[in-house]
Formats: sequence, C-alpha cells, structure tokens
Amino acid sequence: MSDNNPVEVADRVVVGIEYTLTVEGEVLDSSEEDGPLEYLQGFHNIIPGLEKELAGMKVGESKSVVVQPEDGYGEYDEDALMDVPRSEFPESIPLEEGVELHVTDEDGDELLTTIVEVGDETVILDANHPLAGKELNFEVKVISLREASEEEISHGHVHSGGHDH
Ligand code: ZN
Repeated sequence: MSDNNPVEVADRVVVGIEYTLTVEGEVLDSSEEDGPLEYLQGFHNIIPGLEKELAGMKVGESKSVVVQPEDGYGEYDEDALMDVPRSEFPESIPLEEGVELHVTDEDGDELLTTIVEVGDETVILDANHPLAGKELNFEVKVISLREASEEEISHGHVHSGGHDH
C-alpha cells in the first residue's frame, strides 16, 4: 500500500465495499456471506445505479441506495418469454418451475433462462434477468480504496486473489 491511495471513489479507482442487497424485503446477496467486493469504478463492473451513487464516497462512509429497474437489471420484457414444446427438452432436464437453463436462440446467442411454467405441451422459459423490473435496495459501506494497476485498467476489472484473465 502506498500512502497516496485515492481519498474518494472516482473513476479508475479500485473500491472495496461491504454491501447488502434487499429486494421486496428479502436479503438476496450480502458481503457477510461472500466477503467484501472489490471492483473497478467507472467500468460498469457493478450496476450503473449503484456505481453512480458510490462516486465521491470515502473509506468508512455508508449509504442506503435505492436503484430503479432502468438503472439496475432493466425493465421486465414480456417479449423475453419463450414457448418451447416439451418434446424439445432432453429427459435429463428436470422440467420444474425455477430451474435455470442455458439455451441457444435463433441467432445463436446463448441465453440464461428460467422455467416459469410447465404445461402439458409446452414449457415457458423466461430470459429476463431474475431481478428485471425490480427495485433494488442496497446498504453499502466503502472499506478500501486503492489505485488500479495499468493492467487492471486495460482489462476493465480488478485482479485479486490470483485471478487474472
Ligand atoms: Zn484481467
């Protein structure tokens, strides 16, 4: 650690945060379980609505942030629902609501979908992000700030714990 660490959250700074994400009264994600998160500010490593609110915060500061869908995981899109005949699913796939499946669409793109309805003939898959259309409530605390390395900036993400790609 050098003694000229950044004093506040700004673009190209590596920020360490503790956080809790609550949606509709339910805690969905928390650094108490996964440990603090380090990310690179200004590179959309985290959702835009949270990144924007963190700008200017100093180590030790906390904040409650409410993120609307347009600054979070997007609005819910009815067009992202897909009817797929049951016969197209291999028997190895459990056809139950809530099961997540990777599927390839007509354009050859891989999508992560969730089974939302299982009928006699068809299964309805939802390619929306599970948090699309939801208001996100974050409690965040900035616990560390450091300068990013040139390599981190060129990759657009943080290197830590032996991770490098
Ligand atoms: Zn990298």
